[in-house]
Amino acid sequence: MINVSPSAEVGVKYIIVTGGVMSGLGKGITTASIGRILKNRHYHITAVKIDPYLNIDAGTMNPAQHGEVFVLSDGSEVDLDLGNYERFLDINLNSSHNITTGKVYRNVIEKERRGDYLGTTVQIIPHITDEIKNCIKRAALQQLEGGVSADICLVEVGGTVGDIESMPFLEAVRQMRGELSSSDVVLIHVTLVPVDTMGELKTKPTQHSVKALREVGIQPDIIVARSVRTTDRSTKKKISAFCDVAPEAVISAATVPDIYEVPLELEREGLADVLCERLKLEKREPDISWYTTVMRQYTGSTTVAIVSKYGIEDVYISIKEALKHAGRALSTQVEILWMDAEQLDVAALERVDGILVPGGFGSRGVEGKIAAIEYARTHCIPYLGLCFGFQLAVIEYARHVVGWTDATSQEIGGGREVIALLPEQQTVSGLGGTMRLGNYPVNVKEGSVLHGLYGRSEIMERHRHRYEVNPVFLQELENAGLIFSAYNGDRMEACEMAGHPFFLATQFHPEFTSRPARPSPPFIGFVEASRHRKQERGR
Ligand code: GLN
Repeated sequence: MINVSPSAEVGVKYIIVTGGVMSGLGKGITTASIGRILKNRHYHITAVKIDPYLNIDAGTMNPAQHGEVFVLSDGSEVDLDLGNYERFLDINLNSSHNITTGKVYRNVIEKERRGDYLGTTVQIIPHITDEIKNCIKRAALQQLEGGVSADICLVEVGGTVGDIESMPFLEAVRQMRGELSSSDVVLIHVTLVPVDTMGELKTKPTQHSVKALREVGIQPDIIVARSVRTTDRSTKKKISAFCDVAPEAVISAATVPDIYEVPLELEREGLADVLCERLKLEKREPDISWYTTVMRQYTGSTTVAIVSKYGIEDVYISIKEALKHAGRALSTQVEILWMDAEQLDVAALERVDGILVPGGFGSRGVEGKIAAIEYARTHCIPYLGLCFGFQLAVIEYARHVVGWTDATSQEIGGGREVIALLPEQQTVSGLGGTMRLGNYPVNVKEGSVLHGLYGRSEIMERHRHRYEVNPVFLQELENAGLIFSAYNGDRMEACEMAGHPFFLATQFHPEFTSRPARPSPPFIGFVEASRHRKQERGR
């Protein structure tokens, strides 16, 4: 058995982030923001998310329960926090950066069957914990784009301290602390500091969660106090005294209106200095240019409707962020109106400046989405369709322009299948990791709206689908005026419409590659057209 244990000579330093009290504290945003403030000091950062569930990946998980399934360029379907890391750090991660209990156990069991552990009883300690450390190290040592090695690897341990599922991971963290020198690993505990009815900040939950952490042998170096209010000096002192953390290492992280303000807040709190000191890193002046680009002031606002099955924002987090990135670049604040596709009031769409139909699966809400697309097409309202929103735009056109009133998708059935299963999907069995996933090149037709937006004929975008435009009906759809402006071989990747202010739908998911300082071109086009509609209506 080859066992790589993280060692100092490798040079990468680890910042491990755990969470206490409860989930949903914004630990992912905090982790991503910690990475950002260090990246602003020109350190190379990578990040790993640990999800203690038994699923191999997030691909088969219900987004209503667990939030968006984020897709990486290598096609892995991962936790939405990886999206936060990619956006905040402007890096591309891969499947090794999302470690789950499922993956760890699968590796260990495969090794056991191969005979790697011959003679030994395979146990959680040391076999599972060694595998966890190996997985972390493998991810940390992967080169970043441009062939550089990471100086620092962020490791976010999902879940809350005290969960049964997180135990082996915390044990692995405890071991890493023992194996590495104190300047190579730092532990940050993110906890809740609630406000009581008298308006006072309460430290007891933090004390308890640090106690739970100590019970598994881990003492935090830094505490990030999440609260609706700024944690004042005396509260910090109290936390410091009870939890044995230096007062300057108690960091206030109050809720801010925009997630991209979190790094600024951590910066103001002096977290970067504390980290550089602990990790014996050179203290460098921060480069603040990222903030200037990302936090650009708005001069107006634009309202966009998202017509979807789930009204839960976490399900469409990448779309929400991509709209924000484009809005910031165009100085317009994009306000999102979440509309339930199952109870759609079509007339309410008259009030919006743009309509977006996101990705989706299954038949629920489909008719509402098609009605919204029809409204966008016939009332000249800017439209952006993403994946399912592309397929449904084709169905809408087939039904109402071509006249095939029963047009549908094979996924739904019961009519003329203008959207059909991808040929390679016909032999696929099992749902996990089997769609057409991740990066595929897309050819963009010159002279199209899409070409104008990307300024290129070949682009690379991420995918997640099983169905496509049925090639059997392609010619007739084109003859009836629908423009397929992008393709991959004989696979259609985008459609648009002549004589409409902005009607663009893509089979790929541009939202996954949108970055705060590099907004996605289709989103730029859509927000710009929406802003224009608002100006026109204001006249
Ligand atoms: N359900 C559609 C398909 O599988 C669209 C998927 C999506 O929107 N991500 O092709």
